[in-house]
Amino acid sequence: MSKTILITGASRGIGRSAAILAGQRGWSVGVNYVGNKAAADQVVNTIISAGGKAKAIQGDVAVEADVLSVFKQAAELGRLDGVVVNAGIVAPGSRLMDMDADRMRRIFEVNVLGAYLCAREAVRYLARSRGGNGGSIVLLSSAAARLGGPGEYVDYAGSKGAIDTLAIGLSKEVGPEGIRVNALRPGLIETDIHASGGQPDRAQRLGVTAPLGRAGTADEVGESIVWLLSDASSYVTGSILDVTGGR
Ligand code: NAP
Repeated sequence: MSKTILITGASRGIGRSAAILAGQRGWSVGVNYVGNKAAADQVVNTIISAGGKAKAIQGDVAVEADVLSVFKQAAELGRLDGVVVNAGIVAPGSRLMDMDADRMRRIFEVNVLGAYLCAREAVRYLARSRGGNGGSIVLLSSAAARLGGPGEYVDYAGSKGAIDTLAIGLSKEVGPEGIRVNALRPGLIETDIHASGGQPDRAQRLGVTAPLGRAGTADEVGESIVWLLSDASSYVTGSILDVTGGR
C-alpha cells in the first residue's frame, strides 16, 4: 500500500537512505533538513527521478514553530501514514567534567525536545480521534543508550535513553489510536555524524569490534526503518530494535 511519510533529518546519512528506500516503494516522502538545502534537494530529485513524490522541507526540530510548519508542509503531500523521528546530533568527544552547559543544552534541545515535539505532532496527525488513519512512528535511538558513551558523550547517550523511554510510554498511550511506536538503535554506522563529533573514522575504526566485524551502512538501517513503517510490521509496537551488528 502506498504511504505518505515524513522523515526528519533526511538530507544525509540514515534519514537519506530511509527516504530513498521509501521512495523506491512508491511512497511520498517529506524530506526535512535544517541547513543543507542542496543535499535535501538531491534526495528529493533521486526520489522523483525514480518515479516517486517528495518535497524538501526546511526546519529546526528544536524550534516548535518550525516543527508545526514542517508537519503542515509534509501533510500537503497526502494524509500522513508514518513519521521517522531521525534528526539528531553529537558534539565533539569529551568527559562530562569538561562539558559546558551550552553544549549539553543543544544536545538535549535537538535530540530530546526536538524528538518529543516531532512525536507529539506525529500523534496529532496520525490519531484516529483527530481524523488520522493511525500509522507508524519510528524513533531513532542509539546503542549509546545502553552503552552510556563514557569518555565521549554521556550527554548524547542520555538523550537517546529518553528516546527508548518515549517509545515504551508513547506506544502504550497511542496504541488505541491505531498508532505503532518503535525505537531503533543503530550501532556504528558510516555517516557524517562521526565527523561532526570530531572523529570522521570512528565507525570504521570501532566497527571491527562488533561481532559482525564491521561498521554498518546507512542503507542497512534504512531497510529496518522502512520495515517498521510498513504493514509487514503491523503487530510490532513498543519495541526497541538494535541494528548494531551485534554490538
Ligand atoms: P547525520 O549523517 O549527521 O545526518 C543528520 C541529519 O539530521 C541531517 O539530515 C541534518 O540536516 C539533520 N539535522 C541535524 N540537526 C537538525 C535539526 N536541529 N533539525 C532538523 N534536522 C537536523 O546523522 P546520522 O548518522 O544519519 O544519524 C541519524 C540518527 O541516527 C540520529 O538521531 C543519530 O543520533 C542516530 N544514530 C546514528 C548512528 C551512527 O553511527 N551514524 C548511531 C546511532 C544512532 P542538514 O543536512 O541540513 O544538516
